[in-house]
Amino acid sequence: MIITINDHVQLIRPEGKSVFPYSNSLFIKGDPSILIDAGAGGTAYSQLKDPADIILLSHNHFDHINGVSFFPGAQVWASREEAPGYNDPAIYASYSGYQHWEKLMGKPRTRRFAENAVMPEDVPVQPGFVPIVLGGLIDDGSKWDTGPERIIALHTPGHSHGHCSFWLERSNILFSADIDLSPYGPWYGGENSDFDQLERSIHRLMDLNPTILATSHRRLFYQGEDDIQGLLRNYLDIGLQKEHNILKYLTQPRSFMEIASQPFVSNHPSQTEYTQFWNRMMLLKHLQRLKKRRLVAEVNEGQWCRTT
Ligand SMILES: [Zn+2]
Repeated sequence: MIITINDHVQLIRPEGKSVFPYSNSLFIKGDPSILIDAGAGGTAYSQLKDPADIILLSHNHFDHINGVSFFPGAQVWASREEAPGYNDPAIYASYSGYQHWEKLMGKPRTRRFAENAVMPEDVPVQPGFVPIVLGGLIDDGSKWDTGPERIIALHTPGHSHGHCSFWLERSNILFSADIDLSPYGPWYGGENSDFDQLERSIHRLMDLNPTILATSHRRLFYQGEDDIQGLLRNYLDIGLQKEHNILKYLTQPRSFMEIASQPFVSNHPSQTEYTQFWNRMMLLKHLQRLKKRRLVAEVNEGQWCRTT
């Protein structure tokens, strides 16, 4: 589905729900015409009237990149930080954090993510490493002028280390990618995810005070109808509240597994072994952050406890 935002900006939504393996794209018509992200699926892209000259990828997660092959003539740009993950499967794999699986899950990883997953017909590749030849590297502040719009890249790490948002300066439209206002809060369960960085990135986007916010997985948000800054704050608060609950629970020494079994560690309705693993990765990041701030300490053998 194509949603017109203004004369030259369109949101491309997948045919089904905007959840994995799909995500929203933004299309900016001009010279050059630019597509942001490539995970909306072939059915949605077939409705696009104009070709894309450049594809800007927000980050190297499967649901944002799987449809690059629908645009064979486009030059693909991605963040400098994550560029190695587009041509080296071992580097791509290292981003996942699966090297911690056995420690966090108490057993070896036996099934690949989406091993038996059947992709929708309009997703042309299987989950996992997708090699992509990059034509350019995105840095914080990189700019593209399309004529009517100027697109500015904002390096907004935290969800992943190279995660970028894109700001259309002239119309104050923000594409915040996987700072996605999910009702379950932000995701920071990858090896290079970082909650401190995520907190700063969300504040940076709040300060922009966009007129229109497009995210990768939800509807458009409009200033006036939606409290965009408040929604971003509430979204971050879900992660902060989790950290608060962890700290409250640690009045006595607890093992990682004890903490991991608490209901506040996971609020996601679908509990697969993968969602459980990512929740534990996020828990580990909170514990490390609290330790760095000297609010918790590791005592005895792998027990965590508050310091005050
Ligand atoms: Zn992502």
